[in-house]
Amino acid sequence: MDEDGQVVGIVAETKDGEILRFAARKGVILASGGFEWNKQLVKAFLKAEFTHPVTPPGNEGDALLMAMKAGAALENMSEAWWYPAMVDPTFEYEDNVMAQLGGGRNGPNSIIVNKYGRRFVHEGTTYNDMPRAFFNYDPVKVEFPNKGPNWMIFDQQLKDSELIITMAPGDPAPEWVDQADTIRELAEKIGVDPDGLEMEIQKWNEYCEQGEDPDFHRGTIQFEALTNGGGSPEKNLGKIEKGPFYALPIYLGALGTNGGPKINENGQVVNFNGEPIKGLYAAGNASGNPLGPIYPSAGGTIGPAMVFGFLAGQHAANS
Ligand SMILES: Cc1cc2nc3c(=O)[nH]c(=O)nc-3n(C[C@H](O)[C@H](O)[C@H](O)COP(=O)(O)OP(=O)(O)OC[C@H]3O[C@@H](n4cnc5c(N)ncnc54)[C@H](O)[C@@H]3O)c2cc1C
Repeated sequence: MDEDGQVVGIVAETKDGEILRFAARKGVILASGGFEWNKQLVKAFLKAEFTHPVTPPGNEGDALLMAMKAGAALENMSEAWWYPAMVDPTFEYEDNVMAQLGGGRNGPNSIIVNKYGRRFVHEGTTYNDMPRAFFNYDPVKVEFPNKGPNWMIFDQQLKDSELIITMAPGDPAPEWVDQADTIRELAEKIGVDPDGLEMEIQKWNEYCEQGEDPDFHRGTIQFEALTNGGGSPEKNLGKIEKGPFYALPIYLGALGTNGGPKINENGQVVNFNGEPIKGLYAAGNASGNPLGPIYPSAGGTIGPAMVFGFLAGQHAANS
């Protein structure tokens, strides 16, 4: 920043510690993704105990730190593009075990339960909305009952029909998938209340027989079978009855955080008075999401990132 408060370039440090200075006559556009891999920023800003990003590990909030230093207003800071993440512990990226998007949670013959063995959400609703139930607070028990680990419980029928993380139908179940011949045994193995889980499975199976899920309305949402004509009791309600029974932990993950420096219609970063900080722009997950906490549809994250990246570039070029 120069003495007039204009951003005039960027100082970068290479992996080898070399300091590089880049002058920018037209402006600097921050586009280095979110802050989901920066534990300190995550703890400071996100609304939930968030552990499993599924994004490039380099996204450590460098843009956010630079923008804060330049006096940027911030918005949407407690939010992310949430995703229920699953883990195959043998799958690594850049020496980190990498959480993945998983699969199977929309299908029949499976439910998701908390430590009490109880369902707590419509398992098949959108990936941005479903994990919001992970941070529900119970003011009577004074706890976050769904904070996790939560578990996807499924039976052999689902295992035979869907790819679940890296486990294809017909593959032997790997060591990292808990399995047992009875629901009670499975519950004891994973540390979930066995009475609660047995009761929940019995109830779920009754709902499947009735063709209706009065608790959470599985089989009624378009997203549950998006590429297959929408959700329906036939496609999404299936009994958990054929052993062995399986359990996989399901975590609060995200496709990236989406809070950051507030931008205006030109992609310019603004200060707390709403005035543009001269020469500073942001787009994508490095900026406060212009849509707030909403993920309206397919391309809901890449779309605004590209639009505001374009607008920022255009404005900077014409400045
Ligand atoms: C598995 C998966 C599936 C997805 N599917 C969809 C989808 O179908 N539709 C959709 O709209 N969105 C989808 N998303 C989300 C979408 O990919 C992201 O929201 C989008 O990529 C964000 O773009 P970005 O440019 O802001 O950040 P990113 O794509 O995260 O890019 C940021 C880049 O900056 C780099 N970087 C970080 N710090 C620095 C630094 N200091 N210096 C230099 N470089 C740095 C990072 O390494 C990274 O390459 C998906 C995400 C994932 C993980």
